[in-house]
Amino acid sequence: MEVVPNIFIIKLPLPFKIDHVNCYLLRDKNGWSIIDTGLNYPPSTAVWEDTFAGLGIRYGDIKGIYVSHMHPCHYGAAGWLQELTGAPVFMNRAEITSVDQTWKKGRTNVPVVGELFKENGMPHGLISEVLENMTGVQSIIQPHPALSPLAEDGKVEMGGRWFEVINTPGHSEGHVIFFSADDGVLISGDHLLPSAASNVCLWPTSHSNPLELFLASLEKVGRLPVKLVLPAHGEAFTDCSGRIHDLTDYYHERLVQIAGLAGAGSTAYQICTRLFGADLTSFEIRFALTETLACLAYLEGKSMVVSRLVNGIVTYRKMERPR
Ligand SMILES: [Zn+2]
Ligand SMILES: [Zn+2]
Repeated sequence: MEVVPNIFIIKLPLPFKIDHVNCYLLRDKNGWSIIDTGLNYPPSTAVWEDTFAGLGIRYGDIKGIYVSHMHPCHYGAAGWLQELTGAPVFMNRAEITSVDQTWKKGRTNVPVVGELFKENGMPHGLISEVLENMTGVQSIIQPHPALSPLAEDGKVEMGGRWFEVINTPGHSEGHVIFFSADDGVLISGDHLLPSAASNVCLWPTSHSNPLELFLASLEKVGRLPVKLVLPAHGEAFTDCSGRIHDLTDYYHERLVQIAGLAGAGSTAYQICTRLFGADLTSFEIRFALTETLACLAYLEGKSMVVSRLVNGIVTYRKMERPR
C-alpha cells in the first residue's frame, strides 16, 4: 500500500505476540530502497516476493537496504534480501558492532546475561530456562549480510525526497530513524510506536543508562516538524509531539512506581515481579527484568534509588528526596 507518494508500507508477519512488522519500500526514478526487512521466515519472505512481483520490481532495481536496528524482525531478512538483490545493507556503526557481538559470534553475551540475572535475584531454575530461550532465534536471522556503515547524522535520497538519518539511541544503542524535512515524513523504526512503549532494556553489553539515552532521543525527535509517523509496528499516526508527551509521562510515572517498589531494599527481580506479576513466560521475563534494570539505572543516576551489593546479590533502596 502506498501511504504517501512513493513510499509503500509492507506489513510482514511475525510468529510472536507482536504479529507483524512494518517495512517500507521507497520508489525513485532509478530504483527502490528498503527500510527494515522482517525475519527470514517463509511466510514473511513470501510477502516480499509477492510485493516485488505486484509492483513490477526486479531484484536489480533495489539499490539500498537500510536497517533501523539489529533486532530480529528488522534485521532478520537483510542477508536474504542482499543475496537476492545484490544491494548494500546499511546500518549505524554502533549497531554493526552489536550485530557482530550478539548474532555473528553465536550469542557470546549469554553467559554474561546469566550473571546479570543471577546477581539481580532471578531464581536459578528460571535463569537456565531464559538463557535457553535466548539462543532460539539464530535460524530466522540467517544468512548475515555484508554491512556498510551509515554516515552519522547523514542524508539519504530515497522515495523522491531527502531523508536525514538521525541517531536515536535507547531502544538499541545504534537505532536510527529517517526524517524527511521535505514533507514531514518520519520513518521511526521502534523508537516511536503508536501504542506500545518501545522496550528500553539494560543488558550487560549495552550502554549503562539506556533509558536516559532514550528519553533524550525522544526529546530530540520532539523538536522535528513531523507531520506523519510511519512506525515499525502498528498504524501510521500524525500526532508525533502528543505521542512523545504521553511516552515521557508514561516513563516518569513508571520510574516513580519502581522507586516506590524498591522501598527499603529489594532485588530488581522482586521489583519486576511486583510490577509485572509472577506468571510471565521465560521470554517475557527476560525483557521485564532488563526493562526494570534500565529504570533502576536511570533512578540511580538521579539519586532516587541506591544499590548495594551484598554476597553477590544487588538490592535497591528508595532514597528520600532532599528537602
Ligand atoms: Zn526493536
Ligand atoms: Zn521491532
